[in-house]
Amino acid sequence: MPLSQELSKAIDAAVDRERDALHKLAKDIHANPELRFEEYKASAWIAELLRARGFEVEHGLANMPTAVRAKVKGQSGKSNGPVVAILGEYDALPEIGHACGHNLIATSAVGAFLAAASVASKAGGEVVFLGTPAEEGGGGKVTMIDAGVFEGLSAAMMFHPFDRDVLAHPALATVWLQMTFKGSPSHAAATPHDGKSALQACMDTFRLVDGQRVHFRDGVRVHGYITNGGQAVNIIPEDAALEYSVRARDTDELARVRAIVERCARAAAMASDVKVDIFAKRGYRDMRNNMAMARSFGTHLAALGRKARETDERVGSGSTDMGDVSHVCPSIHPYLAIVDEGEALCHEHRFTAAAGSERGLTTALDAAKALARTAVEVLADENLRRAVHEEWRAGS
Ligand SMILES: [Zn+2]
Repeated sequence: MPLSQELSKAIDAAVDRERDALHKLAKDIHANPELRFEEYKASAWIAELLRARGFEVEHGLANMPTAVRAKVKGQSGKSNGPVVAILGEYDALPEIGHACGHNLIATSAVGAFLAAASVASKAGGEVVFLGTPAEEGGGGKVTMIDAGVFEGLSAAMMFHPFDRDVLAHPALATVWLQMTFKGSPSHAAATPHDGKSALQACMDTFRLVDGQRVHFRDGVRVHGYITNGGQAVNIIPEDAALEYSVRARDTDELARVRAIVERCARAAAMASDVKVDIFAKRGYRDMRNNMAMARSFGTHLAALGRKARETDERVGSGSTDMGDVSHVCPSIHPYLAIVDEGEALCHEHRFTAAAGSERGLTTALDAAKALARTAVEVLADENLRRAVHEEWRAGS
């Protein structure tokens, strides 16, 4: 059975009741941008607000002091019945602050949790709030998965700010490669013939990788920069280093392209007779959007006056640790506009401003209502829950 009018209204009213507290939270986090794993103020404000509303709150878990988990006092938060997790992020970016709008993600998740928790027992299940640190390159959700935080959950959901409303946008699987080249130094004018240039191998790696791009499947991204270009103008560079981010639509293509990139580095090192060391840093998995749940979210969003597309191929994709979550339980990560289409996108200065604007705050409240309605519908509607799980099992 779809969500009753009565429960929908109760959820919307619960979010509206918290409007002032949620606006303050969004503005405070926006005005105090904190980098990955250093979200001490943001996580404390979230924990404080949830405690003030009577919830059982853990501030610090999975070895991360800025992670948060909250649930209704006395409830298990695990698998004694359906349990839906609502996820919040709150880390900012260097220099440009909340240019990804994670302050709004945190706010919408807190609002959605407060509203869903107020009716969850009537729907026959539980909701948990998970505050997940360091989405921007730290992978807080991956650490929480490894620590078992997602075990026993029926579904997980969050929203992300964007320049348009999209229910199920892809996110790319990714890996970071750090490569260090070791050559031999010599005087660059007097004895250049005695040196072996690490920088040459570093630059040749970029050139060789560029030559392979014609063989990449759609959606592949390989982008990088030189992190060490040498030691002095009059020395043949002994040390050089680069960093690449390799991304693809799925893990198979990611593994294939990663092997090509590493082959190019070894070939470049061979050409200059230098040594190369390659270090791979675990990245994120691709996002597996659960369409049954995404469509439920879309229906609730439409009832709130926002009509979203399912996907939009005109706009590119990034990567998120929500992708990893989507491989351990059915998940959605819809995007909602806080600017006009094409006006600005994540990681731009104009997006930082939008994340602190009235429109951003309004969108966070819309997201809170639609997330809470979807979460409660998953708890209340056994048919939806079955469809969500069948789809997820078919894809795993
Ligand atoms: Zn983001």
